[in-house]
Amino acid sequence: MFDGEPVVPLITATGPVLIFGGPYSNIQATEALFDEARRLGIAPDQMICTGDIVAYGADPQACVDLIRSHRVATVMGNCEEQLAQNAPDCGCGFAAGSACDRLSAGWFGYANARVDAAAKRWMAGLPRRIDLAIGGRRLAIVHGAPSRINRFVFGSDPEPMLADEIALTGADGVIAGHCGLGFTRMVGGKLWHNAGAVGLPANDGTPRGWFSVLTPHGDGFSITPMPLAFDHRAAAFAMRAAGLAEDYAGAIETGVWPNFDILPLPERAATAMPLAPAVIAVPGDPPAAAAPPADALVALERLETLWVNTGTLCNLACAGCYIESSPRNDRLAYIAPEILKSLLDEARDVQPDLREIGFTGGEPFMNPAIMPMLGDALDRGYRVLVLTNAMRPMQRHFDALRALHAAHGAKLGVRVSLDHFTPSGHEALRGADSWQPALAGLRALDAAGFAPSVAARFDPALASEAEIRAGFAGLFAEEGFAIDAADPAALVLFAELATETPVPGVAAAAWQALRSRGADAMCRTARMVVQRKGESRASIVACTLLPYEARFDLGSTLAASARPVTLDHPYCAQFCVFGASSCMGAR
Ligand code: SF4
Repeated sequence: MFDGEPVVPLITATGPVLIFGGPYSNIQATEALFDEARRLGIAPDQMICTGDIVAYGADPQACVDLIRSHRVATVMGNCEEQLAQNAPDCGCGFAAGSACDRLSAGWFGYANARVDAAAKRWMAGLPRRIDLAIGGRRLAIVHGAPSRINRFVFGSDPEPMLADEIALTGADGVIAGHCGLGFTRMVGGKLWHNAGAVGLPANDGTPRGWFSVLTPHGDGFSITPMPLAFDHRAAAFAMRAAGLAEDYAGAIETGVWPNFDILPLPERAATAMPLAPAVIAVPGDPPAAAAPPADALVALERLETLWVNTGTLCNLACAGCYIESSPRNDRLAYIAPEILKSLLDEARDVQPDLREIGFTGGEPFMNPAIMPMLGDALDRGYRVLVLTNAMRPMQRHFDALRALHAAHGAKLGVRVSLDHFTPSGHEALRGADSWQPALAGLRALDAAGFAPSVAARFDPALASEAEIRAGFAGLFAEEGFAIDAADPAALVLFAELATETPVPGVAAAAWQALRSRGADAMCRTARMVVQRKGESRASIVACTLLPYEARFDLGSTLAASARPVTLDHPYCAQFCVFGASSCMGAR
């Protein structure tokens, strides 16, 4: 089960045991940890490290030396495994081109050049598993997971996955590290515990690391998660002085991770929420973690874009359409040109920042009044963006569209939904026989000089953004399209954050922490008008993503719709603030 590890070392707890992981080359945190252990009266032979002594920080050799000199029992982390082999990367398995991949290239090369041969030989000999006998139970201590040294296991992961991993060990539970966030779960009476990381804060908005103390009792043991204060300013200063990327130095000071590539949605939603974990008695179930509040409030700073939902009817029924458009869904009726006219009349006097009118559906070109509405907006001097699948409904209006383009030039933008750069990838989402007609429409727009943009969805778990852009670049070159696949405005990519665990929304603390780094939401600068079927008045809603929810209905005038929006819908978290893509591009 564990290659090259015929005998699993066993440590028997004679008193409290200190479990820690992820010193991450942070010598300030590692020294603070030993100070804490002394204060708690825990000797080094009752300390166990779950690996990754070396990672982002400035002092890899000093951290290794400190832990080795104290003879702390240590399981091999993927960083130790890779350094021992002089491998080219950290072995986390990050997607090519992802932010983690880019950053790890920098810090791993730095660490590899600074860890000496003796340390690498020591790393090569580390066990991949250590067992701990405590309180009548035997726990398997590994780095990532029993099945794989670099598997990220988080507190929100599904119970069957945890159960399968625990079953591989034959033990009463697993203690692991690697993911950097502490948590405790009981799964069918067996334990999974992660003590967190000492060398990098827990994305909770505080500059603290975490470790755990396990204390045996007669019929079990308790787990006490413990925060670790360390000189975070000195650690960040040392990283900057060493020329390491700013990203992790900033994270050590702010307590917020530089990117969320590896985080499931529930962990993202807990961003900047200070941890206060309880003591857990084993056996016994840990208290359920409280969901972060969904209390972020976003004011309309200025109205820049007014979206018009032309109606939900569409010639396609795409898999995963967030608005559930189809040939039968007319929950949003065709909007009438008079409604747009009255809103544009209102905007003329009171919305000086309004620059763009966006048309989305359904398929906008199925609305019989689409051409007069486009013309009205263009005649008033607005930029117009119409989102289309470029299939037959658009092609039927092509002469009229060309005439508008001749009259208004680049003020008329057309964005074509092409969900993949291959026919099979596109049709997997949009249905059989949808590729050729869409491509024909895109070819016609390109040939007529529209300079169309393209929008696509992708699953970051299956492919990185860089891979998707490279694929589209190939298609555009083959077709002779003058579309720059590297330009996020010309190829708009929506990374879909798959989640089995929706979260209720966005906490104010998380919004503030991420806003200062450029996170955004459409409801800050846009609104959308919809006509719900059977209703006598049109409604203005906060954004294109939430046309049906009554609490996001902001009235029927632009003036009324200017009030703030509470981000208390799962989409606010999943697509906008914590999603791998921004909702700003809309569709
Ligand atoms: S889904 Fe996005 S744009 Fe819409 S209200 Fe929520 S945060 Fe704002």
